[in-house]
Amino acid sequence: MAQLPIITAPDPRLKLKAKPVTRVDDQIRRLMADMLETMYAAPGIGLAAPQVGVAKRILVVDCAREGEAAAPLKIANPEILWRSTELMTNSEGCLSLPEHYADVTRAAEIQLRYLDEQNEIREMHAKGLLATCIQHEIDHLEGTLFVDHISALKRGIILRKLAKAKRQKSPVPA
Ligand SMILES: [Zn+2]
Repeated sequence: MAQLPIITAPDPRLKLKAKPVTRVDDQIRRLMADMLETMYAAPGIGLAAPQVGVAKRILVVDCAREGEAAAPLKIANPEILWRSTELMTNSEGCLSLPEHYADVTRAAEIQLRYLDEQNEIREMHAKGLLATCIQHEIDHLEGTLFVDHISALKRGIILRKLAKAKRQKSPVPA
């Protein structure tokens, strides 16, 4: 397994619509394992393939709380079959927008269909933090970031700060 570099906003690769996986094979399984390792190391609770520069519909999450056993999920081609009308607001962060947080309102519960790492079709019901996290990661597959759910004013402030942080990190041209 290997850790992969995480792309931070603003970056055009985070705005692409990811393509479905035709089959979860060894190559995809390796990517899923690397994404999980990258997510744990960050640390984070979710990571989508576009965040590591792969425009494929793949995500990994682990929303186990501290002290609970690890609960990794490896998901390809996720499809939300049902969303509750009940909504939930959470303070969200993102490994691609480091150190920024904002309240985002999403469905409190979802029913999901996806391909697991054995290429089997599975269905699951998610609520609470897991439902929020999966919806956040699926957004990445559509080129949507959590800041796209907040006001243009707040989004502008966050993206300008990130762009500035990036410029400061870039090496000075010799
Ligand atoms: Zn994210």
